[in-house]
Amino acid sequence: MSIPFFPPDLFDVEELLDLVHEVGTAPEQRFILGARTAEFESAMRESLGVADAVACGSGTSALTLLLHALDVGPGDEVIVPAYGCAPLAATPVLRGATPVFADVDPWTMVVDPVEVEKLVTGRTKVIMPAHMFSVMADMPALRRVATDAGVRLLEDSAVAQGGVLAGRPAGTWGDAGVFSFVQVKTFGMPGEGGMVVTGDPALGRAVRMLRNHGQDGRTRFLHHRVGHNSRFDELMAAFQLRRLEGLPGRLERRARIGDHYTERFTGLPGVLPPPPGRDGRCFYVYSLLAEHRDDLRDHLAAAGIGSHVYYRDPLPAQPAFAAYAPDRDWPGARHACRRQLAIPVYPHLTDAQVEHIADEVRRFALSRGAR
Ligand SMILES: *Cc1c(COP(=O)(O)O)cnc(C)c1O
Repeated sequence: MSIPFFPPDLFDVEELLDLVHEVGTAPEQRFILGARTAEFESAMRESLGVADAVACGSGTSALTLLLHALDVGPGDEVIVPAYGCAPLAATPVLRGATPVFADVDPWTMVVDPVEVEKLVTGRTKVIMPAHMFSVMADMPALRRVATDAGVRLLEDSAVAQGGVLAGRPAGTWGDAGVFSFVQVKTFGMPGEGGMVVTGDPALGRAVRMLRNHGQDGRTRFLHHRVGHNSRFDELMAAFQLRRLEGLPGRLERRARIGDHYTERFTGLPGVLPPPPGRDGRCFYVYSLLAEHRDDLRDHLAAAGIGSHVYYRDPLPAQPAFAAYAPDRDWPGARHACRRQLAIPVYPHLTDAQVEHIADEVRRFALSRGAR
């Protein structure tokens, strides 16, 4: 049995070809920002109950557009997690602002609100947490920190689309939230794309304008402000519209696989599953913490199971962000970097494959997990 970490057969190619034909032969011959994109945006807006949903070029670009719309620039600080993907730090830097790295919880690997609060200064403009792997950040606590500090809260929900915490959907906790539709994400598609969702209509309008060179969508070649090219593909909008309805079912299958793993891994020596439960969870990736992580990875590879180490270094330890890393330590992030290992959790894994993966993790842990 060979089980890749990311499956090659994510999408229905026949459906994609049908849509190429449909979009390509439509009378308006419009390939970006057309009726399908508008329809996709309203479907997302309605499903989340937000004021605006703006489709754009990528998740990274969604963060950039938001920081731009909030006038984040030189002299401003943006508090981001010390453990996570590069855009969290790169997008503030590219606006001329300073990323300030807050440590993460060593078990859940999401940013610790207590650490965030300690880092707030008079220059803080935005707090930008991200959900990680399968666990949403502690948004109620982060909302309180942001409100007390009088700063904006941007929620990087790139990996948690469809997750719900305390009855409130991921993406709707901050002033705005961000999704990514890059291939491997839970609502991925065969191309690049992202989305900004917000309850603030003025912020939505600003992002809408910035995504297409500062135009207002009515008068072409009238540029109200300096903007970006971050538009959305009509073919992808058509594809996502067809798949939106099935998303809850696919997320439920992921969550069931995750529940099963957690049940089988609880109490194993040297292997720690994520905290059990469904509230504030969305299984983009199932991440374990393993004492002998690299050996577990080799063991799984020998059994035909693909796995993935996400981040080998904390963000402030990356050469790219060294200039923004003061002489501090991020022990939670370092802990995660040494131990995190993700195993397959995609919805079309068969029950037999899931059992094989769980069996092999257990076999490794029981023979040598703690030694
Ligand atoms: C994937 C991801 C992004 C970037 O999304 P892209 O569409 O790849 O640009 C940003 N933040 C997080 C947390 C992500 O997982």
